[in-house]
Order: sequence, then C-alpha cells, then structure tokens
Amino acid sequence: MNALAGRFPARTVRVKAPGKVNVSLDVGPLRPDGYHSVASVYLAVSLYEEVAATSTQTPGITVSISPESTLDLDGVDIPLDENNLAYRAAAMMADVSEHATGVHLEITKRVPVAGGMGGGSADAAATLLACDALWNSGLSRDELAHIAADLGADVPFSLLGGTAVGLGLGDELSPALVKAQTDWVLVAADYGLATPEVFRTLDRLRDAEGHEAAEPMAVDPRILQALRGGDAVALSKVLVNDLQRASIELAPKLRHTLGRGEALGALAGLVSGSGPTVALLTRSPAAADSLAEDLRHYGLTAFPVHGPVHGARIISDTLL
Ligand code: ATP
Repeated sequence: MNALAGRFPARTVRVKAPGKVNVSLDVGPLRPDGYHSVASVYLAVSLYEEVAATSTQTPGITVSISPESTLDLDGVDIPLDENNLAYRAAAMMADVSEHATGVHLEITKRVPVAGGMGGGSADAAATLLACDALWNSGLSRDELAHIAADLGADVPFSLLGGTAVGLGLGDELSPALVKAQTDWVLVAADYGLATPEVFRTLDRLRDAEGHEAAEPMAVDPRILQALRGGDAVALSKVLVNDLQRASIELAPKLRHTLGRGEALGALAGLVSGSGPTVALLTRSPAAADSLAEDLRHYGLTAFPVHGPVHGARIISDTLL
C-alpha cells in the first residue's frame, strides 16, 4: 500500500540531526536497576541522519528508509514498526499534540547502524523536531528534551548538538562552550555491536578481575580544555572509553583498525561509544581527508568528519 495515499493537502518537514562521538566515556558499576551511570563528553559530528515527516490523511505512523541513504544497508536489520526509535518518537509526539495527523517518516541513513554513534537516537531527535513543527505542538526545547530522554539516553544530545558533558545515564546534559573544531576520521565496521551486550561484557571482565569500578561523578577537565583550545595533540593524550576493551573482546578486529589508523598517522583513536565504529583523531581537515583516503586503500569504510556541529535542525518545510 502506498503510505502516502490520500494525503492531500500534505506537508513535509525535513530535519537533520547529527551522530556523536564520545570523546570520553567513564562507566560506573552495574546498578541495582540494571543500568550503568556514565560520565561522558559528547561531541556532535558532521555525519547527519535526515528524517522527512509527511502528514497523511490515513491515521497512524509509517516508516521507510530513503534510497538516498549512503550506507550499504544490505542485511542490516532496521525495524520499520514500533521498534524503530523514530516511530516511537512520532507516537510520543502524537500523544501530546492536539493537531496530530497520520505521518509518514522517511529516514535517510548515513550514521552506521548499531555503530555506537547514536544513529537511531539521531533519527528519534529529528522526528521529535519534525513532528513538533508538522503538528504545531508548540513544545519548548525543554519539553522536547524530556520526551527525548524517555526515548533513550542518547536522544537528548542529538537534539542539543555541540559539545556536552553527560552524567547519569548520559541524559543529564550540560552544554560546554566549544568553538574550536577538531577533525576526525570515522571507520565504520560491516557488522554491529548491541550496546547492552557490550555493557554486560564489561561487567564480566571487571568481575573476573575483581575490579570494583567507581561511580563516575565528573569528566576529566583536561578533555574540555583541549576541545576548547582545538588542541588535538593534547586531546589525543586524554581520550578514554571504558567500553573499548569490552567492544574489542567481542570484536577483536577493532584492535587492528585502531592500530592501522595510528600507523597511518592518526594522533590517537578510540572506539566510539559501544562501537564498533572507530574514531581517529587528526591534526587538521587535510590530515583527516588524507587519512580517510589511505584507509580506503586498505578496503576500510572511512569518512572524514569534524565537530562540534549543531543539533537537530529543520532544513525545509514544504506544502505538497
Ligand atoms: P547507541 O550508540 O545509541 O547505543 P547505536 O548507534 O549503536 O546506538 P543504532 O544505529 O541507533 O545503534 O541502532 C541500534 C539497533 O536499534 C539497530 O540494530 C536496530 O535494530 C534498532 N533501531 C531502532 N531504530 C532504529 C533506527 N531509526 N535506525 C537504526 N536502527 C534502529
């Protein structure tokens, strides 16, 4: 069935929202509620998801993936029902919007799926903003951020963008003023890692070592200092990701990717979030371009990006 059948008069709001790299990620012990507290510096990077939300006369929510997606999505599992984070975002917006209609969401995927860069979260953030505009919900950014936090720990950051410190589950965000740019190369894997499994693996590794992790309370101030100054060399010395060893345990190939990146001139590399995307820090945009090119010669999927970039933003609003 054509999801847009009988749609007139329809309107499409198109929003883009960034993926993220965790420049630092400290993970606390397993809490009684099954979650982990974190302390993390989030950096929004110039790899964007796009969601086009079109009002439909037929009630309900439908989701499709745009053929414009730059990812090779063959064999990748992206649910198109209520298990899709964008679907859930639209459903939550419909609940609080007086003038909600049916809506079709077309998602352009560019952020690696299950890659540790919050791609699904970016889709959810974009959808919140698109539906807010489509249905004139009139919610404040704060109200949207509350709904975002209910959808997932990484959703509020994609809405906010820029650079931020995340505490709690990562959703208690304090924006950090960073004007300087840092340049990275992202290396995507042709497989995904399930975030809960990576956390479970970290718990298992820590248990086996009898290691009692401390509750993370704050981030290392040197990280924000280096980001503010755009000092990639200083930043390269303080990158940290507690999940990295668990990701490597599950996907040992990551060690080679990190090693290859550093051998080809990256200042440092780390697994992004729960992985398996690897983020390699470079000195300049030109260095990022040439490192990405070199990595491609080894058959790796690599793209140069920079951060910080803005959060979810409307790029067009069209009456059809
Ligand atoms: P995070 O870093 O927030 O843990 P991630 O970037 O590692 O997430 P996602 O790409 O957001 O991972 O997707 C993880 C899983 O969620 C996918 O394997 C897929 O089954 C499901 N999913 C739900 N909604 C989406 C979506 N909009 N896009 C991609 N995957 C989605």
